[in-house]
Amino acid sequence: MNARGLFLSAFMMLAACMAPQTGPPLDRYGGPAMTDPPNFDRAAVDVIRGSFAAGRQPDGNTVIFSSAVGLIVFDTGRHAAHTQKIVDRATARGQPIIAIINSHWHLDHVSGNIPLRKLWPGAAVYSNDAALSEALGSFLRRGLESNRKMLVDPATQAGMADDMRADIATVEQGDRLHPTISITGPLALNLDGRTLDLHTATAASAGDIWIYDPAKRLIASGDIITLPAPFLDTACPSAWRAALTDILATPFERLIPGHGREMTRTDVQRYRDAFNALLDCASGSATVRACADAWAVSIAPLLDEPSGDAGQAAAYAGYYVESILRPRAFRSDCAS
Ligand SMILES: [Zn+2]
Repeated sequence: MNARGLFLSAFMMLAACMAPQTGPPLDRYGGPAMTDPPNFDRAAVDVIRGSFAAGRQPDGNTVIFSSAVGLIVFDTGRHAAHTQKIVDRATARGQPIIAIINSHWHLDHVSGNIPLRKLWPGAAVYSNDAALSEALGSFLRRGLESNRKMLVDPATQAGMADDMRADIATVEQGDRLHPTISITGPLALNLDGRTLDLHTATAASAGDIWIYDPAKRLIASGDIITLPAPFLDTACPSAWRAALTDILATPFERLIPGHGREMTRTDVQRYRDAFNALLDCASGSATVRACADAWAVSIAPLLDEPSGDAGQAAAYAGYYVESILRPRAFRSDCAS
């Protein structure tokens, strides 16, 4: 079990004692309807909101871009129920999945690749293969071993045990997660009438990809923007700051984060400011609690029920200040 997994297990055991999360029905953009800028076009982009239920591991958001001949799926979730929603969307549209793009190799974003590729074996898969390969031999392998140990621990709750078994099965089939096309730098992807600008970063992982759709002025950011807090387990904070700057340098009007609701530019600027403040606070002499509470207050307007409340935001931020940022427990390729 990796550090995040350990934390999530403990955190969710507490969360499981609270009322189950139900939440309002989600619209296609994963949150309350927003007033669009003039001429903003939502057609041909669907979002499947990732779950983050009490006592379970999360799914990342999925963004589906449609083209003349098929669907382009950005991130495929972790749980079978999430992947089924992608299948259902393709079935409802009567179009095949012609491409999968993974924002990074975390299991809440790639696990659905395996069942989707069984159904659409001709789909091209775009991700950073070197980063995935490195993770399969290190972080994911350690997680596999930890999950096997925790499965025999009677204190492990049933829902979390189900997620551990699924994660074990995914990593054991890790060969099926490799891309058909490895992305290591910017690329304009032209897929039958649809152009997507793929950008790269080394923020949440050593091989992040985020998408700018110039026709829609829309970004799918993956976990470079994530609520209720940035997941810093495999992070490089300085590169993460740079990635947020790069995102804001594009003329986007709407952004779909890796976890959480749709955001405006103003929302993303708020997130960027809060992220930089969290890093600066962790580098200073303030208490962990003060850094965590400041994060939670800053991003509170961005939260909705499915993404967690301010208390959860503070709990995550405090954990990462204490376990990752202050001890500088960054990826080996990260200098700062
Ligand atoms: Zn994620």
